[in-house]
Amino acid sequence: MGKRHLNHRKYIYLSTFVILSVQISFATDSLTINARKRIPSEDAPGAYRMVNDKQAWNPAQTAIIICDMWDQHWCRGATARVQDLAPVMNHVISLARNKGILIVHAPSGCMEAYKDHPARRQAIDTPKVALPEWIGQWNHQLDREKGLTWPVNQSDGGCDCKPQCRQHSPWKNQIHVIEIHNEDIISDSGIEISSIFDQRNIQNVILMGVHTNMCVIGRPFGLRNMARWGKNAVLMRDLTDTMYNSRSWPYVDHFAGTSRVIEYIETHICPTITSTDLTSKVPFRFSTDHRPKVVFLMAEKEYHADQRLPEFARLLEDRYHIACDFALGISKADGPKRHSIENMQTLRDADLAIVFIRRRALPDDQMLMLRDHLEAGKPLIGIRTASHAFDARAQVPDPDNKDHILAQWPEFDKEVLGGNYNGHYGNTEKGTRIAIAETASSSSILKGLSVHGFISEGSLYRSSPLSEKAAMLLIGQITDQEPEPVAWTHRYKKANIFSTSLGHWNDWEIPDFQQLMINAVLWALQ
Ligand SMILES: [Zn+2]
Repeated sequence: MGKRHLNHRKYIYLSTFVILSVQISFATDSLTINARKRIPSEDAPGAYRMVNDKQAWNPAQTAIIICDMWDQHWCRGATARVQDLAPVMNHVISLARNKGILIVHAPSGCMEAYKDHPARRQAIDTPKVALPEWIGQWNHQLDREKGLTWPVNQSDGGCDCKPQCRQHSPWKNQIHVIEIHNEDIISDSGIEISSIFDQRNIQNVILMGVHTNMCVIGRPFGLRNMARWGKNAVLMRDLTDTMYNSRSWPYVDHFAGTSRVIEYIETHICPTITSTDLTSKVPFRFSTDHRPKVVFLMAEKEYHADQRLPEFARLLEDRYHIACDFALGISKADGPKRHSIENMQTLRDADLAIVFIRRRALPDDQMLMLRDHLEAGKPLIGIRTASHAFDARAQVPDPDNKDHILAQWPEFDKEVLGGNYNGHYGNTEKGTRIAIAETASSSSILKGLSVHGFISEGSLYRSSPLSEKAAMLLIGQITDQEPEPVAWTHRYKKANIFSTSLGHWNDWEIPDFQQLMINAVLWALQ
C-alpha cells in the first residue's frame, strides 16, 4: 500500500515536472515585443501616426545593452534617478537572461574595474570581425535627421539641480545593484560589442540606461549605429532617463523632456518598447515623477485618432504636467489582428483612461483591465466612436483558440458613458452647429468656451435620449433636425465620466474643442 502510494506520488511529481519543463521551454521560445513607432500620415502631410508593431523575436538572437548605469554621475539628480531605476532594471534583465537574451553591460570609461571579470574577458577575447569604420565611432546624426529640430536644448549639460552641479567624471563602475553574470558581456567598445553580435548572430538589440538624448542614442553601440547597421534596434523607453534642464527650451518638466526625446526617437531613429514586454507589469515610473497619468486606449481608423491623440498628449505633457501613455490596437477597420489592444497593463497606475476605440472585441484579460480601472472608481473619457467601442456587431472567435469567444461590452455606451448611440446623420455642407446646452450647469468643462459655439465638420451622432444620470453640456444641430447631445458628463458606479460624440480629425484644430478636451481632462483628474 505504502509502496503504491509512493509510486503514485512519484508519478504525479514526474508529470508535474514534465508539464513545468514544457511550459518553461515554450516560454523561452520567443519574445513578443510591442514596438511603438511614429510613421508619416498618408492623410495629413507633415503629421505622424503612432502605431504598434507586434513582433516575435528569437531570444537567442537578441541582446540588451545597458548604457552608462554608473555608480556616480557628475549631476546629483541624475545619480538619484539611476539609483531609482537600477533595481527595476536588474529585475528586467534577470527575466531577459532567463529567456536566453544576451546581456551587455556598458558602463563607459569603467573597464579598468572589470579587467579580470569573466564577462570582460569574453569581450576582449572575441576575435574582431571586419566592420564598417563608423561602428567604432560616435554617431551624432543619421542622414535622415538632417534639418530636424532636436526636441530639447541640452547645451547646458542638462543638470536640473539647484545649485547646478559641476561637470566632471566621477564614475568608477556600473551601479552594483545591477548584477553581472559570468555569461554576460562587459564592454564599452562599439567594435567589441559589434564583433560579439556578429559572431553570435544577434539581430535584435534593446538599449536601456542613460542618457537617452546623449549616450543611448549616440555612442558607438547606441541606437543610431545599431539602426544604421541594420539591426532591429529598439529603446526600452521606461528604463531610461534624459539629461534635460527644465529651465531650458522648451521649458517643460524633466519627464516631459524625456518624453519629447522618446517621440523624436520613435519618429526618426527606431521604435521603442517598455519593460512590460518582459514583466507583463505596468511600465516603470521614477519615484520623483508625481504627475497624474493619463492612458489613451486607441484602436480606430476613421478619425485619425492615432495622429490626433498623440498630438493632444504632447500638449498635456508640455503644458499641463500630465504624464501620458498609450495602449494601442491596430488602426484598421477590419482584418484579423484588430481585436487586441496591447500594453493595457499601463492602465494599472493610470489616473484617467481616454477611450477612442471603434468596434473591437478583446481578450478577456484586456477587457478585465478596463473594468478594473472603472471598478476602482477611476475616471474615463469617451471620444466619438467610444459609444460603440466594444460592439463588434458579431461574435469574434479568439484567433488563438477557436472554441473561445472574445469579450465585448455592447452596453458600454448606456452603462458607462450614459449615451444612446443609434447611428448618425449624413455629412452636411454647413457642418454641425455646436452650442452650449440651455440646461448646462456652470461646469468647469465649459470654461473658456465661446458662447457663440463652433462648427464641426463631422457628421452628427444620434445620441438621445441620454441616461437620466447624464448632465448635458453641449448640443449639436443640423438644418431641419432636432438637436442632439454632443458632450455630457455621467457617473458609472464611483467613476466620473465625460463623453463626447465629437472628435472628427478637424475638430482638434478648433480652439473651442481643444479647450473642451483640456477642461474635461482637468475635470476628470481633479
Ligand atoms: Zn545636477
